[in-house]
Amino acid sequence: MTEQTFNYDVLIVGAGNAACSAAHAAIDKKATVGILEKASKGNRGGNSALTGHMRFVFNGFDDVRPLVKNMPDADLHELLERMPHRTEAEHWDEIMHVTNNQSDQEMLQVHVTESRNTVHWLASKGHDWVPAGGFKMPSDNILLMNGGGYGLQQRNFTLLEKAGATFHYETSAVDLVQDQKGRVIGVKTLTPQGFATFYAKAIVLACGSFESNPEMRARYLGAGWDMVRLRGVPFNTGEGLQMAMNIGAMPHGSWSTCHASPQDINLAPYKIPIGYSTKASKARYMYPYSLMVNSNGERFIDEAYDLRGRTYAAMGRAILTQPGGIAFQILDAKARKMDIYPMNYDDATTEKADTLEKLAAALDINAPNLVRTVREFNAAIQPGTFNADRHKLDGKHTAGLAINKSNYSLSIEEGPFEGFPVRCGMTFCYGGLKIDPKNGQVQHVAGRPIPGLYAAGEMAGGLWVGNYASGSGMMAGATFGRVAGTGAAIAAIGS
Ligand SMILES: Cc1cc2nc3c(=O)[nH]c(=O)nc-3n(C[C@H](O)[C@H](O)[C@H](O)COP(=O)(O)OP(=O)(O)OC[C@H]3O[C@@H](n4cnc5c(N)ncnc54)[C@H](O)[C@@H]3O)c2cc1C
Repeated sequence: MTEQTFNYDVLIVGAGNAACSAAHAAIDKKATVGILEKASKGNRGGNSALTGHMRFVFNGFDDVRPLVKNMPDADLHELLERMPHRTEAEHWDEIMHVTNNQSDQEMLQVHVTESRNTVHWLASKGHDWVPAGGFKMPSDNILLMNGGGYGLQQRNFTLLEKAGATFHYETSAVDLVQDQKGRVIGVKTLTPQGFATFYAKAIVLACGSFESNPEMRARYLGAGWDMVRLRGVPFNTGEGLQMAMNIGAMPHGSWSTCHASPQDINLAPYKIPIGYSTKASKARYMYPYSLMVNSNGERFIDEAYDLRGRTYAAMGRAILTQPGGIAFQILDAKARKMDIYPMNYDDATTEKADTLEKLAAALDINAPNLVRTVREFNAAIQPGTFNADRHKLDGKHTAGLAINKSNYSLSIEEGPFEGFPVRCGMTFCYGGLKIDPKNGQVQHVAGRPIPGLYAAGEMAGGLWVGNYASGSGMMAGATFGRVAGTGAAIAAIGS
């Protein structure tokens, strides 16, 4: 049997948010577009289908009005009181702050200045946003994509199919095809029926990072990372990165750090988009208001050194380094009365007890140490008012402890006490390929662009180092997907 071949102007590998944005942009330029997706049609969407929000620049009402349908102006003004703006300067500063000034500044410039344009462009395609539901939703932004990432991706598929893009499911990219001049002209794939080669004038790699590959996790992130459970899809096993590096693509950004956050101890090994609901999320993001201890009953990190959206992506690593790779979020009855639990804590794995000793026994924590840790913590809390505002630190801190808590210090004294066992859940890796941020073209180790090859989303490295700000992955995927799709289409068929 002869091997099947296909031809497109622009071929996109992956069908997540970055890929779909690249496809929209290439179609805007009138390119023919083929999309290769490893997952089945039912499980299409990538990690992008499991998300909630994007973090973008807005200067006030006029910037968010075009994004939100069916909401009276007065209600939108009220929503904005929670967070009136995120200016370019504020957004730049927070990313530089969380990455310890290590974010690639050329990438960041595009990310920051194009985020607002990109969400407006997505709205022009048919996407919309809805208000984030305060404390009940685990989001730090005031808006969520309508239907979350799942809704965004379902709309993307419908819109792109209507616009003429062809999707090829259960089609795994395994190799890049080059001509004699080194130009990338195709992708070799493996399907359930065998090998097929797809040719194109330009190729966009948007097939995620290596978070689902235990061998690569151990190789790049270090000991212990091979055994972590995934928050997302099992499909992002790093072939895109490997294929590109095999032909000389330059690795870029932080390959030894990743996004990993506190998750329920019973987090499943991975998630698939089908049937997923953010209400069933296993994220356990009450830690800034809790006392977080390991099984020795000892604290190991300042639970609230910054806003939750700027710490959660680094908390997974801190938990992984504890005995057994687990930790416990301890809260007392006061927190319950305040009604500050996100709704996904309703099905959290938990133990409740009238005394700390009984709680420790139920959770297998060293009881005398836990009692001492709590006593010392309570005694160290300084005057001030606790305020669980997600967008503002309250400054309610401790003093004199080996590890102080900088904000949201709520004493643990009133039974029943609750303890939530958590583990590290892997989200995605920060290391990727070096791209030209202006057109998404992948750079060769020799310092020149690789003709015909573009990359976006998790595959484009450089923005995140050691930490991250919530909602940024989807925003970067959309922004650089659009950039790469435009760059690839121009290379393929001219401007
Ligand atoms: C549970 C969860 C919640 C999250 N919440 C948020 C949030 O609210 N906001 C936010 O900004 N970020 C969030 N993130 C991070 C976000 O999902 C990623 O940053 C973003 O989805 C990356 O987009 P992408 O298009 O690069 O990758 P993906 O959406 O993962 O898409 C990659 C696609 O490539 C396919 N693929 C992989 N290998 C191959 C191959 N060899 N051949 C063909 N196809 C292949 C995969 O099947 C997949 O469909 C969350 C992640 C998880 C797991």
